[in-house]
Amino acid sequence: EQGVVVSADRPAIRLTGLTKSFGGAANAVDGIDLDIAEGEFFSMLGPSGSGKTTVLRLIAGFEQPTAGTVSLLGEDVTDRAPFDRDVNTVFQDYALFPHMSVLDNVAYGLRVRGVSRRERHAQARQALETVRLGGFGDRKPGQLSGGQRQRVALARATVVRPKVLLLDEPLGALDLKLREQMQVELKELQRELGITFIFVTHDQEEALTLSDRIAVFNEGRIEQLGTPAEIYDRPLSPFVAAFVGTSNIFPDALSRAVLGRGGMHALRPEKVTVGRADAVPSTQRTAPGTLAEVIYVGSTSRLIVDLDAGMRIIALEQNDAHRVTEDERGSRVSVGWQDSDIVALEKATADTTDPATDPATDTAT
Ligand code: ATP
Repeated sequence: EQGVVVSADRPAIRLTGLTKSFGGAANAVDGIDLDIAEGEFFSMLGPSGSGKTTVLRLIAGFEQPTAGTVSLLGEDVTDRAPFDRDVNTVFQDYALFPHMSVLDNVAYGLRVRGVSRRERHAQARQALETVRLGGFGDRKPGQLSGGQRQRVALARATVVRPKVLLLDEPLGALDLKLREQMQVELKELQRELGITFIFVTHDQEEALTLSDRIAVFNEGRIEQLGTPAEIYDRPLSPFVAAFVGTSNIFPDALSRAVLGRGGMHALRPEKVTVGRADAVPSTQRTAPGTLAEVIYVGSTSRLIVDLDAGMRIIALEQNDAHRVTEDERGSRVSVGWQDSDIVALEKATADTTDPATDPATDTAT
């Protein structure tokens, strides 16, 4: 990957056995071992309460671990105060000083470091240029839009050139359009500055779009670590298959009945075709069923089929390639797939109630 310096002995961040207990029954962070390379755009993805923010706060030094260590560029910083670590944090609420001008907000970190007024204003202006807010230095944060405030927060965090920038759902407060625009800008900024970004999100699409690598969190542990393509195409557990995108999940008995092999398996909806029951199959494998629902979603349609074998399956079809229409609800159909699109879920997750097999709970519909 462009800009990523892989150095096994001197990663930007190394976490060893990192554990945090707040005194509850389970550890909030439960023995995490992780290396993040210099220049990497690394995302921590997981549901609410899975421990992402706590890991970020442990890296920043706002929390002390119950056990384990945090190293920054080969140096153990576990016992150092936040200000004594070469990391900076961008929070979801941006935490700008409302009474200060935008320029002074951006220059703040340099002032704390004793940089002269002239020099810090020059650098702050430069940082504002980088986030395309050159003309906004004299305004107060209250006179900016949400997206502009977000960019000021980024300029403020990057002006001191930290080795590592921690971002806790920095786009969470923005509406969808602005959020998509800022995703592109964030990625460009990271490439330009070459700073290691550690990005916390519960938005799987955002993580897939932005990251070099993703750690999927579940109950304080990393459930799977990999590139976006690895996480999406080869989920290892039912949890990852269901949390990142939508998956049809076949428990062991249905794997045997429908797929002809034992163990748990996943199949992405976009890999499933639905045709007339009497049509010549275009795929290697087929299974008979009844069309239960057709949901129009703009350029695609989501088809829900009750297989005769006793499970529901979701298919996602491009509307131009659409072979089954809404008025055929209730009709007999043939569901098809290729063997190569079946993913074996080798790693068991304790909680195997998977929302993906029940379209009623699928929020994407
Ligand atoms: P979210 O996406 O909602 O921010 P998260 O994945 O970042 O969730 P954390 O905020 O790291 O999750 O929380 C992990 C667990 O630790 C949760 O069960 C949470 O209730 C608990 N926890 C976090 N901070 C504290 C605290 N200061 N005191 C007690 N428990 C805490």
